[in-house]
Amino acid sequence: VPTDRDPLLDGLNEPQREAVLHRGPALLIVAGAGSGKTRVLTHRIASLLRSREAWPSQILAITFTNKAAGEMRERVEELVGEQAKGMWISTFHSACVRILRREAEQFGFTKAFTIYDSGDVRALMKRLVKEHEADAYGLTPASTQARISMLKNELQDADAYARQANMTDPAERVFVEIFQDYTRRLRQANAFDFDDLLAQTVYLFRAFPQVADVYRRRFRHILVDEYQDTNHAQYQLIRELTKPASGEGVDVGDGMIALIPDAAEAGASLTVVGDSDQSIYAFRGADIRNITEFERDFPGARVVLLEQNYRSSQNILDAANAVISNNFDRKDKKLWTDQGAGHTVIGFTGYSQHDEAQFVADEIESLRSSSVGYDDIAVFYRTNSQSRALEEIFIRSAIPYRIMGGTKFYDRAEIKDALAYLVAVVNPADEMAVRRILNKPKRGIGAVTETNIARFAADNDLTFRDALAHAGEIGLGPKQQKVLDHLDAVLREAQEILLPASGDDAPPSAVAEGMQVLLNRSGYLDALRQSQDPQDEARVENLDELVAVTREFARNNPDGTVIDFLTEVALVADSDNLDDASGTVSLMTLHTAKGLEFDTVFLTGVEEDLIPHRISAGEPGGPQEERRLFYVGITRARQRLFLSLAMTRAQFGEVSVAMPSRFLQEIPAGLVDWRQSPGDVNSRGGMRSRALNATAPRENRWGVKPLEPSRSKASLAEFTNRVTGKVRDNGDLELDPGDRIRHDDFGEGVVDAITGQGAKRIAHVRFDSAGAKKLLIKVAPIEKL
Ligand code: ATP
Ligand code: MG
Repeated sequence: VPTDRDPLLDGLNEPQREAVLHRGPALLIVAGAGSGKTRVLTHRIASLLRSREAWPSQILAITFTNKAAGEMRERVEELVGEQAKGMWISTFHSACVRILRREAEQFGFTKAFTIYDSGDVRALMKRLVKEHEADAYGLTPASTQARISMLKNELQDADAYARQANMTDPAERVFVEIFQDYTRRLRQANAFDFDDLLAQTVYLFRAFPQVADVYRRRFRHILVDEYQDTNHAQYQLIRELTKPASGEGVDVGDGMIALIPDAAEAGASLTVVGDSDQSIYAFRGADIRNITEFERDFPGARVVLLEQNYRSSQNILDAANAVISNNFDRKDKKLWTDQGAGHTVIGFTGYSQHDEAQFVADEIESLRSSSVGYDDIAVFYRTNSQSRALEEIFIRSAIPYRIMGGTKFYDRAEIKDALAYLVAVVNPADEMAVRRILNKPKRGIGAVTETNIARFAADNDLTFRDALAHAGEIGLGPKQQKVLDHLDAVLREAQEILLPASGDDAPPSAVAEGMQVLLNRSGYLDALRQSQDPQDEARVENLDELVAVTREFARNNPDGTVIDFLTEVALVADSDNLDDASGTVSLMTLHTAKGLEFDTVFLTGVEEDLIPHRISAGEPGGPQEERRLFYVGITRARQRLFLSLAMTRAQFGEVSVAMPSRFLQEIPAGLVDWRQSPGDVNSRGGMRSRALNATAPRENRWGVKPLEPSRSKASLAEFTNRVTGKVRDNGDLELDPGDRIRHDDFGEGVVDAITGQGAKRIAHVRFDSAGAKKLLIKVAPIEKL
């Protein structure tokens, strides 16, 4: 019975309490951003544990990132204490890895399987496209990879797809062959790609109902955050897990005792929370229908709506509501708050991305002086490459920052090499890993020797790894024979440390030790140390860092094995990093920002072609998804929101003239206080004095030709006016060839010709000093003399 001082229910409003306390087969919580969805999930878990309706081991909670999982676990621990341990709170991918590690032997894999990240997949795909000569049919490694990924998310495997493919189309046939070959190679390598982690778990459950039953009995409560971004495979996984268990007499494992005697007769109880306005992963196969059709899919579902927002001030919410209401296929819902209007949203227009970055840095410094902490501040952008300009200025201004998501540490060649050494020991079936280290460091093993080893392996029915142990029989020169013997010995030495033959568990320090043996005894580190290349010095430091990571892993996971270590690395490298962000400004893409909140948010690069991104233009529903992404960005802010854009931007390898994002016009004018760069472009933000090499401006959807690139204040003022909706309007200004005009930027000139009709009339003007220009008469900053 809830009392007045119940930490579980105190800080909740009425519908939130209902969502925490409801019991039944299925519960859907739909609500806008910041309305407490994630909080409700956390409290619901705590409530189940506290009332002893569930053991921790009976709960499976799915979050979108590892970071979110860590936060949710902490919160639950705060509410119920130690007993929160043993709960599965993780991403879909981590949960599937755990299941597959236990069950892989059921279907021909071993529990030491490798997880291929998208870089590994790309490397393999390159080889396959080449081997199948598929480029002749217009197939690229990237497009093939993307298509296979999409199919896997739809749970189509290669053979099923082959059966219904149009094999008379040669391009299609080649694609099918690559898909099948790819599947075969992964299996041979005892490896899964990221999509497999989901798809193979579903396959496992369907093919082995007695295995599925183990998990159906075990997980009595399944809770999923950010449900709007689940794809088909994830949806089917949830369906499998929530079916009633069927078989009998299966060992439940983990010493679990079922509290409810007939629990297995009913499926697990499912709780999902989501917001269709924040669905931003359609491009990766997320299907919004999972949420819109939830009640049909899970009969008896209760639906709870939350409308009060606890995160943002009213001004920020008004801006968000106004933008998202332009999406036509949504159910209208309006967020409100009782926190008051709050600060006005600040808008900024600058000359260049450097100018914009300088504005962000200046504002951060002034916020600091009003005692806002660095970690309360986040800067968002649409594409990773936009961080460069910000980083340059932040470094110069000594603003501490970190980039969230997209950690590139594990993408570095030396890190991948080191991990490949580990994999070669742990999963010797992974031929890609063994081939990767074959000639690293350079040992004089070329392509011919590699092919000879592969042929010897095939002829003798050995793995590539095992063939290394028979260097003397392959028919190689004495030198090659010697280095291969040595490599084989090093791998064995590390194997004895990492996977002792005695069968005893390796000590926690084994990963670090094994790693060091591999890097030292293989000569890898020595080669870097002796190199004259200054970059190799940095590589040595990175490898030191990796060894430090293994030590930290051992401290945090006293029972952790080398396989656990590789799993963690694979999962972290792909999504987000786990370390905390204290004392730094957080930089991230809008996609990474989902689910997070910050006191102050800078949303930068609010320009056409960035947000909405230009690749979205041709996609069905693309601009609408971009609008949701913009909405996600706005709704991260608690107190202060800055929207900024630049008139010119070096992007896609060229300097181009930007247009304000259409989304800015959707925000009521009164909500934003627009400011314009005060500075001369040469004195601010490190803009180099080189000439602007702008590309030809294109007309945009407003029928307005972008501004000519110019550094004058007048053109920035014009740009700002366009943002704020005060687009200049010359009406039906009468203009004929021979007339003289004055232009705000280009000075005086004479009209040569007039083309076009009505609002699209264009004056071809020869300026006295600026040369020939074409101007859209209706909006150009011109007057007739
Ligand atoms: P998003 O859609 O962005 O994921 P959300 O719906 O999951 O948002 P939460 O992150 O759970 O929202 O909550 C937003 C903020 O509001 C958090 O700081 C949370 O602690 C706070 N909050 C939620 N409910 C309440 C409440 N009843 N009283 C006070 N604060 C609350
Ligand atoms: Mg949330």
